[in-house]
Amino acid sequence: MVFYAPCAQLMIKRISGNNIFIKAACCIFYFKIKTYLLILVILQLSMKNSTYFILIFYAIFLASCSPKGPYAVTDKVYKEKLKSFVELIKRQIPDTLKDTIGQPIPSGWVGTVNFGIRKPNYVIIHYTAQDSVQETLHTFTIAKTQVSAHYVIAKNGTVYHMVNDYLRANQAGVGKWGSVTDMNSCSLGIEIDNNGKDPFTDAQINSLLLLLADLKKNYNIPQANFIGHQDYAPKRKPDPGPLFPWKVLATHGFGYWSDDILELAPDDFDYNVALRLIGYDTSDLKAAIVAFKRHFVQADITPQLTQLDLNVLYNVYKKY
Ligand SMILES: [Zn+2]
Repeated sequence: MVFYAPCAQLMIKRISGNNIFIKAACCIFYFKIKTYLLILVILQLSMKNSTYFILIFYAIFLASCSPKGPYAVTDKVYKEKLKSFVELIKRQIPDTLKDTIGQPIPSGWVGTVNFGIRKPNYVIIHYTAQDSVQETLHTFTIAKTQVSAHYVIAKNGTVYHMVNDYLRANQAGVGKWGSVTDMNSCSLGIEIDNNGKDPFTDAQINSLLLLLADLKKNYNIPQANFIGHQDYAPKRKPDPGPLFPWKVLATHGFGYWSDDILELAPDDFDYNVALRLIGYDTSDLKAAIVAFKRHFVQADITPQLTQLDLNVLYNVYKKY
């Protein structure tokens, strides 16, 4: 030990030079090794049975190498998946296109110097329909559920980031908004810890507003493109439901809300066209009406449009 210490210090100096970061990394590594050597010597002195000695040393070594924290294993899987995606986007294989008689047409790869990474253009807001954020974090970190979200916001306002914004989370699923049918490929999913019955907490909404401001700025997301899961998938999903404060969001520039003073909708107002123009899939008109009312009316979510609902729709659709 006494002999090796000056040698190690000399090595650190030679490897790191004047780089303070490399020096720090070398020191941490050196002190870890030093600790192991110390344990080794103590154990060797105190034990005569070499088998026990080797086993205990091996156990200590394994314990020190094993991942820490409740999500360390899933973090490791995340990193391994990332590596496979890197390999995927490194591929430079030209498309093997074929003509009408099945003969390959000439093709080849020429890498350009002008390119970037695709950005998300929509934000989809959900409620978790679960009882705690721990339950949701567990749901999103086990493979069999096949679901995830970019962000989860706990009742106390804590924001958990679970998927890099440039990657695709399994959150929106099957649905249609305007002409978009693969929302997972172009959106960010935000899950709010809420069981679908209780009000959202102030802390959650405050954190959400800060997060949305960041996302809108970073990815230049249009105001109209902040929508709910219910809007994208009206036949399947009720979230984030009529308790969600869309009006508050709209006043901050995330999504739209009707004006306080509403004009009377004209007699020939085509509500089906208006719903489609906003983005709703009207192939099931009743489901589309309920989804619209969950978002823009909220006080009543029956599948009929009252005069007030028509006035709201007439007011809102002109904003799109
Ligand atoms: Zn959802």
